[in-house]
Amino acid sequence: MTAQSSLHVVKAGQSKPLALVVDDEVDNLELLQRVLRKDYEVHTADSGTKALLLMEDHDFSIILTDQRMPKMLGTEFLAESLKRNPTAIRILITGYSDIESVIDAINQGSVHRYIKKPWRAEELRKEIETTIELQRLMVENQELVSRLKEANAQLREQEHLLMKNLDEQSKQLFRANKDLEALNETLRGLTLRDGLTGLYNHRGFQQRMREEFARAERSKHELTLIFFDIDHFKKYNDANGHPAGDDLLREIAHLLTQSSRLKLESARLRASDIVARYGGEEFVILLPETPLEGGRIKAERIRKSIESALFPHAENQPGGKVTVSVGVANFPSEAQSPQELIDAADQALYVSKRAGRNRTTLYRDLPQKP
Ligand code: GH3
Ligand code: MG
Ligand code: MG
Repeated sequence: MTAQSSLHVVKAGQSKPLALVVDDEVDNLELLQRVLRKDYEVHTADSGTKALLLMEDHDFSIILTDQRMPKMLGTEFLAESLKRNPTAIRILITGYSDIESVIDAINQGSVHRYIKKPWRAEELRKEIETTIELQRLMVENQELVSRLKEANAQLREQEHLLMKNLDEQSKQLFRANKDLEALNETLRGLTLRDGLTGLYNHRGFQQRMREEFARAERSKHELTLIFFDIDHFKKYNDANGHPAGDDLLREIAHLLTQSSRLKLESARLRASDIVARYGGEEFVILLPETPLEGGRIKAERIRKSIESALFPHAENQPGGKVTVSVGVANFPSEAQSPQELIDAADQALYVSKRAGRNRTTLYRDLPQKP
């Protein structure tokens, strides 16, 4: 370790760092000067007061002072010097009897090291070097700690940002997932619905039928199915065009749902009717918790309301009106499975057609059953 330590400020035009030596005895000043002048540009003062004055004009790297001086003690002077130049290395030269005040000064940070009297030149030089080295290590240590703190703060900030991003991303993902679920739900719904009328389609009806059947079996409820088929619909299409035929299908679908809703409003706390487009011009209404007689009444009411409705081009149909043929069947009296219930209502409908259309037939009344 040389005096040209990184701690030492060597200004332009100045070949060596500055040292300040303070002692009231001129002999001591000379001795100390001799020890230091190889490595330092040495300034001397015979009192603390004068030394403080020197410090106004010079930036000392190292300050050496005797403790026992008449006007100002070395420790007092060093405490003052700390205010003016906090980075200088401060060394106190003292006898054993002053040890208490030295310890105080060390604790207050104004003394880096003390050297006991009597000292020898070589020892003194070594002590100074050690002090400078220790001080350098301390400064380096402090720099490392503060760099570490800074890096730590940056890391924490990055972690915070990362967490914020992650949070935002997971929220977006959550929202996207919800949208997807809703879309899937809509798609699922669409596959069960008929595009023209909005009613359940064949598939939707089969699904609801299975559910209602299971429920009816479980709770020992009756289930009545009404099967409708538009009479001479091919003629309607032929006479008025396919789009007009579509319109009629929509109007009849509307009428069927209205009639179901009406019943629901006059509510006898019943599970809602299930209205579906079974095929081209065939519709069904499944009535949960409804006996055959209730189904017959409903079927007849609908058949009559279609017969008397003023559908466009109705006058061109046979009999001058749009009509439907109807078949009605009941679970559990006439069928044991969904398919049997559908077949039974269909057979009753076929009998309505054969008997001249625009009428309702109950499967119960069929003369011969297969
Ligand atoms: P019936 O009284 O015996 O039931 O005679 P119909 O003419 O109603 O019966 P048929 O089964 O001979 O004809 C049904 C017609 O329904 C034929 C078909 O073109 C028509 N149709 C089926 N689906 C649609 C549709 O979505 N739109 C339109 N406009 N017509 C349809
Ligand atoms: Mg048909
Ligand atoms: Mg028909």
